Amino acid sequence: MEVKTVFKIGDRVDQMCITCNEERGHIVVSLSKTGRITRVSCPMCASRVTYRAGTTRRASNEFCAPYDRGRTYRKGQTLMHATFGEGEVTAIIEPQKMDVLFADRIRRMIHAHS
Ligand SMILES: [Zn+2]
Repeated sequence: MEVKTVFKIGDRVDQMCITCNEERGHIVVSLSKTGRITRVSCPMCASRVTYRAGTTRRASNEFCAPYDRGRTYRKGQTLMHATFGEGEVTAIIEPQKMDVLFADRIRRMIHAHS
């Protein structure tokens, strides 16, 4: 099995957020010279914390409804996208636009679209 060791700013990693008291995907905000993650940011509460590798576990038993652009999403909801996989709504940008955190990075998605 291939282990991903090289990360970029903006990549997603799972980490426990102390502020939210919840495990969730965080965004890499700083890296060391060797490409190791040093700090990550929680997309929900925007707190920046030191990355701790190996402290996470994946919550795979959560049910994710398929992504539906006609549906109105709220921050914190999860969805399953046909291409990108499981995602979590991190922010509602405009009434019909939202940011969704997928396994690799955040993508801007349409919602509440009639
Ligand atoms: Zn948080």
